Amino acid sequence: MPNTSESGTASTVLGYPRIGPDRELKRATESFWAGRGDASALHEVAAGLRRDTWTGLRDAGLGQVPGNTFSFYDQVLDTALAVNAVPERFAGVTDPLERLFAMARGRAGAPACEMTKWFDTNYHYLVPEVGPGTRLAPGSRKALEEFREALRYDVLTRPVLVGPVTFLLLAKPAEGAPADFRPLDLLGPLVEVYRDLLAELAEAGAEWVQLDEPAFAADRSSDEIAALRKAYDRLASAPRRPKLLVASYFGELGAALPALASTAVEGLALDLVAGAADLDGIDSVEGLGRKRVLAGVVDGRNVWRTDLDAALAKATRLSGVAGRVEISTSCSLLHVPYDLAAETSLPADVVDMLAFAEQKVAEVVLLGRALHEGRTAVATAFDAAAATRERVALASRRDEQVRERLAALGADHYRRAAGDVRATIQREALDLPEVPTTTIGSFPQTGQIRRDRAAHRSGGITDDEYAARMRAEIERVVRLQERIGLDVLVHGEPERNDMVQYFAENLDGFATTELGWVQSYGSRCVRPPILHSDVSRPRPITLGWATYAQSLSDRYVKGMLTGPVTILAWSFVRDDQPLGDTARQVGLALRDEVGDLEAAGIRIIQVDEPALRELLPLHERDRPAYLDWAVDSFRTAVGGVADATQIHTHLCYSEFGEVVGAIDGLDADVTTVEAARSRMEVLGDLGPGVPRGLGPGVYDVHSPEVPDADELTDQLTAALRHIGSERLWANPDCGLKTRGEPETVAALTNLVEAARRVRSGEARTTG
Ligand code: GLN
Ligand code: ZN
Repeated sequence: MPNTSESGTASTVLGYPRIGPDRELKRATESFWAGRGDASALHEVAAGLRRDTWTGLRDAGLGQVPGNTFSFYDQVLDTALAVNAVPERFAGVTDPLERLFAMARGRAGAPACEMTKWFDTNYHYLVPEVGPGTRLAPGSRKALEEFREALRYDVLTRPVLVGPVTFLLLAKPAEGAPADFRPLDLLGPLVEVYRDLLAELAEAGAEWVQLDEPAFAADRSSDEIAALRKAYDRLASAPRRPKLLVASYFGELGAALPALASTAVEGLALDLVAGAADLDGIDSVEGLGRKRVLAGVVDGRNVWRTDLDAALAKATRLSGVAGRVEISTSCSLLHVPYDLAAETSLPADVVDMLAFAEQKVAEVVLLGRALHEGRTAVATAFDAAAATRERVALASRRDEQVRERLAALGADHYRRAAGDVRATIQREALDLPEVPTTTIGSFPQTGQIRRDRAAHRSGGITDDEYAARMRAEIERVVRLQERIGLDVLVHGEPERNDMVQYFAENLDGFATTELGWVQSYGSRCVRPPILHSDVSRPRPITLGWATYAQSLSDRYVKGMLTGPVTILAWSFVRDDQPLGDTARQVGLALRDEVGDLEAAGIRIIQVDEPALRELLPLHERDRPAYLDWAVDSFRTAVGGVADATQIHTHLCYSEFGEVVGAIDGLDADVTTVEAARSRMEVLGDLGPGVPRGLGPGVYDVHSPEVPDADELTDQLTAALRHIGSERLWANPDCGLKTRGEPETVAALTNLVEAARRVRSGEARTTG
């Protein structure tokens, strides 16, 4: 007898990781891509992971297990395939798996679908493309097949699909669509396809289906909310369908909540972690009394142990308002690692702070029991959890010295003169040529460098041997840059596995995991560091490498650091104090490093903030406060240097519009940005807005193509239409660590030649 939704405890989760506890799916997928394994081997691994997830969640005691949470690549792509929203250029690929991977990764003559960030997470989805010609129809039956597959293990799942409105809000117009076409125009026909899919699932025995509508946790127009209501009225009126659970997450629903509540859908899932504000007016929302409401009180996207009593109180707030209340995660657990128990080297007090996916499921189950049987039924477990939380809340999280230093710094953290004053001082002090050439930091990471780092980590080579090998690599890269003729050099970052992990490993207040992998996109996984306590820098981090590199050359070598916002964006960050307070601490730790670099004679220091745009809150009203602390933490990092020391920053994404003010606020002497793919369009935003040095990337580092000197000259000439030559720098779009050496040398040689032409005036006659 399969477990049914009404039996068992009143608990569920909105989704689960799918890459495998040991990244089994990644390995199987990459073997398949490389031709080392066939499709059946990949399908076998996938089926095993699905089975383990379903039976594991059932055995953990969840009342209802979500289905269709598995994906070979991405759930938005899966949804596109389910409704046959396949761009024309992939129509010829008939094998379903080949087609899926072709859309995700491209194939000859058919570039991949665009990939972009899933709301404000570090997960990336594939952007659906739809147009008036898209023939929406039931396509892949993945949800149905997986529903049946789970039944074979006696698990009655609740299939999860991206909801139709969010699907279209995330879509972009297909190539050739008329200018006035909006993807949402297709909502009517799309909803009919969903009705067909729902009918099939009902036929197969599904009692509930979950439709995810996270797009409504962001700011939405009243037209969009009206479209949402209309879509669910129509879905709910389908003659044959499972009960519908509409899930939103990553924030509050706001005005979309009463709209959804007014429809005849049977269930709603609310994010009561990021969207707890929805509780405020909850009593006056009509229609909830007839619905099953999932209280998303266990944070699905961060790694902290839940405050069970606070969570229970939130869920209890819904009793008497909702028809039935159950406990859930705030969003899918896709965004956290599988299992804390797999970690063998985390300090015990840090372990006590944490809960990964498996631990969160246990919390959900426990909360479900507390909600329906009363807290006394689970008092022992609750009290034990509370005692653990209390212990680690007080233990090592506070560093009084850090707090005192920040307080003492106060508003005096930024001591730099006005930008134009600094520019004059630096022109004199640094004596750089017009349109200086430089790179963004990393040089190609060879297999040998990676092996050396791994050997050092595992104790295979001594510290001294490791340092000697890294110094040899730094020397090689410095000489290479001198030969190419670059003006401002870098040390190449060979010692860094990752620009955030490297600093996390060297700062106090962070922990790093062995197996804490989280899917970033497709087969790519990341292991975000865990920022758990007050942050400080016990000893210099980059100083040795930077000063060694500088000692080798008469040209300037840039010091190279990752900024506070980016460090936060790519970590799991403590949630017991405002993000801004944590960011300032990271800023202070970096300030110590910046100070040491400057004192050691490093004249140019770059602090990268590629994630500045990425952390931008979903709601407009939260943005000014975010941008304030983001700017403040950067200024804390760099605000102590002399006016003659040149501060660079680097940002890499193309939509600068919303953060131009903040980029200006960073007040860096030179800002390098990704610009090549937009052919310098970003300068329209940045040129007038940011009145200091600017290095718009002149070539895309994601492609192995070598740009020739003519093309690079054209890019620089295009940039000069926006800004004066005294402000222009010549550099690639981003770091070079994923590129090969020969193409890098060729591209940079052409870059130097292009800058020469621009300086000499030749460019004007040819351009
Ligand atoms: N300095 C870093 C590098 O060159 C910057 C990386 C980034 O912007 N993501 O690799
Ligand atoms: Zn970059």
